[in-house]
Amino acid sequence: MNMHSNERDTEFAALLAKVHAMGRDIIAPLAAEVDRDARFPREGMQALRSLKLLGAYVPTELGGLGLTLLQIAKISEVLGHYCGSTAMIFAMHQIQVACLVHHGMSSDYMRAYMRQLVTEQRLVASATTEIGKGGDLRSSICAIEIEGDTFSLTKKAPVISYGVDADDIMVTARRSANAPASDQVHVLVHKSDYTLEPISGWDTLGFRGTCSAGFILMCQGNVNQILPTPFSEILGHSMHPTAHITWASLWLGIASDAMNIARSFVRNEARRNPNTPPISSLRLGEADAVLQTMRNDIHAAAHEYQALLDGDDADAFSNFGFVIRTNNLKLNASRLIVDVVGRAMLIVGISGYRNDSKFSLCRHLRDAYGTGLMVNNDRILNHNSTLLLMQREG
Ligand SMILES: Cc1cc2nc3c(=O)[nH]c(=O)nc-3n(C[C@H](O)[C@H](O)[C@H](O)COP(=O)(O)OP(=O)(O)OC[C@H]3O[C@@H](n4cnc5c(N)ncnc54)[C@H](O)[C@@H]3O)c2cc1C
Repeated sequence: MNMHSNERDTEFAALLAKVHAMGRDIIAPLAAEVDRDARFPREGMQALRSLKLLGAYVPTELGGLGLTLLQIAKISEVLGHYCGSTAMIFAMHQIQVACLVHHGMSSDYMRAYMRQLVTEQRLVASATTEIGKGGDLRSSICAIEIEGDTFSLTKKAPVISYGVDADDIMVTARRSANAPASDQVHVLVHKSDYTLEPISGWDTLGFRGTCSAGFILMCQGNVNQILPTPFSEILGHSMHPTAHITWASLWLGIASDAMNIARSFVRNEARRNPNTPPISSLRLGEADAVLQTMRNDIHAAAHEYQALLDGDDADAFSNFGFVIRTNNLKLNASRLIVDVVGRAMLIVGISGYRNDSKFSLCRHLRDAYGTGLMVNNDRILNHNSTLLLMQREG
């Protein structure tokens, strides 16, 4: 039965209210501990599971909540208010789910897996980065080896977020030992079929709760676990836009929370000196204008992508203009989050600089600096500069 759009809006507003409550009551109170101990935010993830949010993007016909990408982005933003790491894990999981939903519906195996994901609220991680390739998503060293209808694969992955706590991992690899580096496939592997040999820990500046340690991943499975679409197409159609939109959205949540902290600090100051408005209120106005730019950028990119998903022009995703704009979203959002949180820090002053203050902005600022590295901004700029030269003048 098709629900009217206002019914769906009301239902989504009710879900968002629950996410906010969960953020306030469960996620935020543990955010400092998760960050300090660089530990997996298991309570928050359990709470997300209780709302069935790990299957949020899976279509209703497969038992999921059938949310849109715009709604996934909104939830990412809300979670960002409470804990950057929890929000990042949510977003990274949804990026993998989007790849499955957009490119796995024609496969019996993948449809059955998506049902299982919903029922068991399975958490999916990603292994794209590879030792020797860095953040170059478009090429792999490792290759799958097929024998009959089974495959085996070994990947040296320097960073797999929540690798230990995930139930499944989606891995990029060359199609075969003879394939060129760019002829990649996207493979879904299950915990029962892989081992993770630790090669590096995760004692980092920010996003500490993502537990993104390095591993040698050794796995095997059935050839049905290889998505039928070439990875280059999955990347352009799904992984690239979904990643940049959900990441930017959760960064917006972190930046908005920093602004909320700055606002409450200025409000306190104003109450203390009612006759002299604090100078910092002017800075608050400036910072809010930057935050608005960030919000508008994300809004435009997310709506553009949702419209492409809702349309039926498969070629639209490889349009240079769309790719460049999606890259620009990531470049801008990763700079603006540092700008907004830095401004908030200047407003709050030493109370923001303290780890032990209720106005602390240390975690926000440390998380903010990770955003430029999640696919290095210079790599993205390099890609854009090539595309801009090839693009026709418009
Ligand atoms: C919080 C967090 C979570 C992450 N989670 C995951 C995960 O779950 N799974 C995963 O696979 N990866 C993950 N990553 C890895 C991430 O997406 C990048 O792939 C990784 O950080 C790249 O490492 P790098 O900066 O050393 O390498 P590179 O991207 O290789 O960059 C190193 C340097 O080389 C330069 N450089 C190299 N090549 C070029 C080029 N062609 N053009 C321009 N400059 C270039 C870069 O500018 C940079 O200065 C995560 C990263 C972070 C920060």
